[in-house]
Amino acid sequence: MKYRTQPSYLALKQTGELQERGRMLWSMMSKCRLCPRECSVNRLEGQEGFCHASSKLIVASHHPHFGEEAPLVGKGGSGTIFFSNCSLRCVFCINWEISHLGSGDETSLQELADMMIHLQKLGCHNINLVTPTHYVAHIVLAVGIAADKGLRLPLVYNTCGWERLEILRHLDGVVDIYLPDFKYGDGISAARYSAGADSYPTITKNALLEMHRQVGVAKPDTDGIIRHGLMIRHLVMPNNVSASCEVIRWIAQNLPNETYVNIMSQYRPCYKALHYPPASRPVSAEEYKQVVEAARDAGLTNLDIQGFPI
Ligand code: SF4
Repeated sequence: MKYRTQPSYLALKQTGELQERGRMLWSMMSKCRLCPRECSVNRLEGQEGFCHASSKLIVASHHPHFGEEAPLVGKGGSGTIFFSNCSLRCVFCINWEISHLGSGDETSLQELADMMIHLQKLGCHNINLVTPTHYVAHIVLAVGIAADKGLRLPLVYNTCGWERLEILRHLDGVVDIYLPDFKYGDGISAARYSAGADSYPTITKNALLEMHRQVGVAKPDTDGIIRHGLMIRHLVMPNNVSASCEVIRWIAQNLPNETYVNIMSQYRPCYKALHYPPASRPVSAEEYKQVVEAARDAGLTNLDIQGFPI
């Protein structure tokens, strides 16, 4: 049985490059442009941007997760760390207490590193960084500390997909698995449901290309676990809110056909979604089926299909 045993960041750690990148990202919080909101607030002096995050790291929870994609879960689970606050702030967010209300505990870099080590000791297959964008500097610095303590698990960058290229380039060689959402195929929906983020489709498409350039197609090792590559999630929404066919078309035309795409069926109206009628009900079996058929017709061959027997 032969598979990747060293995570990407170890090489950067050995040359000092990992710490340098962490310091660079940290300095960007003085006029914050860590995400496409580019608020320019000084988080290092305690100001909070659109994401409601200052330089204080807030973590909501960390634990082995058995509800993520099967190639990330395996037998030991995916070692999830849920970060509080969010830069996208969707009205239908299932984790709204964490993302919108910022519930969680202030956490030092040492403590974040210790969480990673704890998840490794529990037998998790990876460190799954959920909503990492606004805390990317903290994460890179903490990974450096954790590597010194023996961390050897691959990092999963579990993001909304709305990422600046400049930031992603600092993660080249740090992240092993990119797990981005591709939420919307059109900017009108993105603006309506995600706090004015009409740039979402354009920025996310460029981000996906950069992620693919860095890590390539995700392929399971002989034990069924994915340790490297790009895994895209698309949440099908009711009434074509997510413009799913455009999402599928773009992936099929711009990334390899064997790109891992998880077509998610579990949408339900959470948080404020009941006030947004097109998004105020679950997705139907027929709506989900149409998206799966569109993906197959477009030639995508590595679909993770959940929910409905079709
Ligand atoms: S990470 Fe937060 S403070 Fe920084 S640009 Fe994005 S929303 Fe603004």
